[in-house]
Amino acid sequence: MANEIHQKTARSLDKVTTDYVQKPKSLSELHAGIISGKTKATELANSYYERIAEINPALNVYLSLTRERALETAGRIDELAAKGDVLPVLAGVPVGIKDVLVAKGAPATAGSKMLSGYHPPYDATSVAKLEAAGAVILGKLNCDEFAMGSSNENSAYGPVKNPVNVERVPGGSSGGSAAAVAADMAVATLGTDTGGSIRQPASFCGVGGVLPTYGRVSRYGLIAFASSLDRVGPFAANVRDAATLLSVIAGYDTQDATSSRRPVDDYAAESDKSVKGLRVGVPAEYFGEGLDPEIRESIERGIDHLRAAGAEIKQVSLPTTQYAVPTYYLVATAEASANLARFDGVRYGYRAEGAETLAAMYSRSRDEGFGAEVKRRIMLGTYALSAGYYDAYYRKAQQVRRLLAEEFLTVFGEVDVIATPTSPIPPFKLGEKTDDPLAMYLADIYTVTASLAGICGVTVPSGATQSGLPIGMQILASHFNEGTAFRAARAVEAAQG
Ligand code: GLN
Repeated sequence: MANEIHQKTARSLDKVTTDYVQKPKSLSELHAGIISGKTKATELANSYYERIAEINPALNVYLSLTRERALETAGRIDELAAKGDVLPVLAGVPVGIKDVLVAKGAPATAGSKMLSGYHPPYDATSVAKLEAAGAVILGKLNCDEFAMGSSNENSAYGPVKNPVNVERVPGGSSGGSAAAVAADMAVATLGTDTGGSIRQPASFCGVGGVLPTYGRVSRYGLIAFASSLDRVGPFAANVRDAATLLSVIAGYDTQDATSSRRPVDDYAAESDKSVKGLRVGVPAEYFGEGLDPEIRESIERGIDHLRAAGAEIKQVSLPTTQYAVPTYYLVATAEASANLARFDGVRYGYRAEGAETLAAMYSRSRDEGFGAEVKRRIMLGTYALSAGYYDAYYRKAQQVRRLLAEEFLTVFGEVDVIATPTSPIPPFKLGEKTDDPLAMYLADIYTVTASLAGICGVTVPSGATQSGLPIGMQILASHFNEGTAFRAARAVEAAQG
């Protein structure tokens, strides 16, 4: 009874709006429909454009649409299907792309005014691979400016609303990519994760998201934020589909020297395997102060499900976690300050009007083109790299990064995966943290560690708070062990029913 009353007040205070949440069809259902001719890729694409036209004004998920390109691909798929040809795994699947990845025929803004008017002449490798596998690219998705943020409120084109509850943030920086899947405005999407930008929004919107191992997916055609941390990865409504997408986009690329030559696994098949005997580590440092009690309970329940499915649960320790947030914000800002130097008003996008000298044109273009958070990070990064402070900040951060990576490797000697909450807090209200960048940074505590260590991970829905806000569980695995992470995530997902 008490519980019921609590739920009611929470609901009325919170105005849960689930009108926008809709589960997309699974890849296997879609594939069957396309092969049998029951589903026409062209009609499917058009129905997605209708849904986008209807609800995008409320959610602000898409920044631009690539209708012509989409209908051309869809038409080609329909022709192949009519001929009875063997169709590729993503044939006719409508997908959306985070607007930090370039795609021919669409503007690329990176959520910034700085790139307004920029039309890239080529495709990111991940985008080209999706299309080669038959996917239909619907358009470009909203995100925090240059992928810097955790709430999508740093987009120069306005925030994305969380489809679960429009008063809440969808998470960031890939907020549009997560929201699009949650609201069935795409069957799957691509995002990027530098310090949590796939995992945290996936968790906030109640969908699956993947952080591939550093080097697993090519970064070619990704507008760089922090090159030693940036990863491209998929979002999908279920773990198996996310695994299929990863197999499509992963692999060596001559255009990205950091991409790995290791063969790509059949991750969907890996995800089908049982978790019997799988060793799951639970690190104390991810369950301490600052963790929302409802999230703790939900993750502990998820771990119980893993145990019930035959996994062996072990307590582990990752003590360097306490230094991860400052370390990440030094490394990421230092690299960002270097990467963003190329935006000078000459080569790409925005240029300030009326400057009298070249120097004034550079500085005014940057002043007017970049938003506040991006400027803050360029300044922090420039400071951390400057002659007098390099040793104290940047070098120190690199040393801590190394320690953290070694700690993970030691723990992965004892366990196959590590289970943690994805975020210490549920999706917060729009505007709630915009005045407090430090509070926003601190909430990245559980995701920046894997980013610094280069390891892989998956986030999977593991329930909801009393007021109906999604909770995500993070499953981490060592380098190139994505298949194992998917396996554990499938078991957590299965327990959700
Ligand atoms: N929230 C983190 C940041 O603001 C992560 C961003 C990301 O992964 N792109 O830097």
